[in-house]
Amino acid sequence: MNIELTVPHEEAHKAGRGGWLRAAVLGANDGLVSISSIMVGVAAAGATASGVATAGVAAISAGALAMAVGEFVSVSSQADIEEADRQLEIKHLNDQPEAELEELTQYLQARGLTRHTAERAAIEMTAHDALEAHLREELGRHEHNDAKPLQAAMASAASFILGGVVPFLALSTPENIRVKMMFLVTFIGLGAAGTFSGVASGMNPVKPTIRVILGGLLAMAATYGVGALFHTQVA
Ligand SMILES: [Zn+2]
Repeated sequence: MNIELTVPHEEAHKAGRGGWLRAAVLGANDGLVSISSIMVGVAAAGATASGVATAGVAAISAGALAMAVGEFVSVSSQADIEEADRQLEIKHLNDQPEAELEELTQYLQARGLTRHTAERAAIEMTAHDALEAHLREELGRHEHNDAKPLQAAMASAASFILGGVVPFLALSTPENIRVKMMFLVTFIGLGAAGTFSGVASGMNPVKPTIRVILGGLLAMAATYGVGALFHTQVA
């Protein structure tokens, strides 16, 4: 049973978005950095535009699937842990209701209620929904921050693809500036992803965005160097 709050509640809290937002931003950054790195590396090794495109498409497919599987596995084990906690709490509430009532009372006292008020509150919360009260007070659990494996997997795969197509925007530019343009569109893409994540999570995006841009360009430069080295070795 949900009771609508009747007090004014203006602040828009962002914590409930944590799961998919984290997965989506990670996915977009990964897509941008890994696909553009692969494409500049292949270009530096002397591949034609269609060779670069082929490498990019293969890498996007592989990367998006790997992201989805990885995210699904990791969030699933988080969900398994949450479910195990829940089952344990159900068992405790069945086996030792008195001890659980006392436990809840003490959690409420720790939050600043007097013993007397905490006892009354614990009794009323237990009557209302004992399991929910225990999960919330003991484990800090709330329905809107439960782990959702499928949602996280789809968010990270979709955002990986979204990030990964960005370097393709530079593909049709003349060969002599193609690599520079890939660096440029990746730079812009990373800046956009960082700004979006900052705005959506309500935090100042400047520092994390600079970090991800520097890291991304470094990865591209390194792959470019490897590709160029390979080119001179085999050519
Ligand atoms: Zn408990």
